[in-house]
Amino acid sequence: MQSRRENSSWESESSWLHWVLVNVRLFIFLIVAFAGMIGVYWYFSPEEATAEMIAATSKGSLSAPFYKSVPLQPVIQRLAQSPGPLRIGIIAGHKGFDSGAVCSDGLTETQVNENIAQQVVAQLQAQGVPVDLLDEFDARLDRYGATAVISIHSDSCVYYNDELTGFKIASSGVTDSTVLQQCLEQEYGRVTQLPYHANTITDHMRDYHVFRELPPGVPALIIEVGFLNLDREILTTQSNIPANGVFSGLQCYLTRLGYGG
Ligand SMILES: [Zn+2]
Repeated sequence: MQSRRENSSWESESSWLHWVLVNVRLFIFLIVAFAGMIGVYWYFSPEEATAEMIAATSKGSLSAPFYKSVPLQPVIQRLAQSPGPLRIGIIAGHKGFDSGAVCSDGLTETQVNENIAQQVVAQLQAQGVPVDLLDEFDARLDRYGATAVISIHSDSCVYYNDELTGFKIASSGVTDSTVLQQCLEQEYGRVTQLPYHANTITDHMRDYHVFRELPPGVPALIIEVGFLNLDREILTTQSNIPANGVFSGLQCYLTRLGYGG
């Protein structure tokens, strides 16, 4: 039983129903496919589908570290294959701040450091290498975009035992300074013939304030060039030898960077 009104719309209603019936398989397919996609999406989605959540819950099997190692090139370098503007910073340890270690006869670490640092600077300048002699807390450090920074220090003047002779190096944990450290260790040891004194490297050296102050991308290290007590001769009257050692280490480093020595 149909009313007049329904009868009047029968024609359009019937063609719409006919179209639906003809395409019913298409509709079923679309509904099933959509439901399938939703199902797959739900099944494979963690509750909070952020990268951090995935990394935090997958315990290393799926996670990748979110940091990447800082490239070895200086921060001012623009082209990957060619070395950037060359500049070396030499810090005379404690200069402009305090005297450092002091010997009983008044010899100070700062004097020794500055004397050696000045000779390294002079040798670099003689080779045409742009170089700055820097203070311990130099105001330029936080924007010092250099090829390398080396801080020259010397060790205690107190006699403790016959073991306290030799040099040691700690390099930046902020910027990869591996090549710089390799070159300095190798060349300083070769030139001075001093032993490497690894077991007296302190946290103070590893977390040296300059490493944190320099812009990221500047390789840096601190070298204790010798002990003021047992190595006093080579650090004072023969100071050209430790200066040559640091200079030779820098030559090695610049050659490995492609500056041609
Ligand atoms: Zn010092």
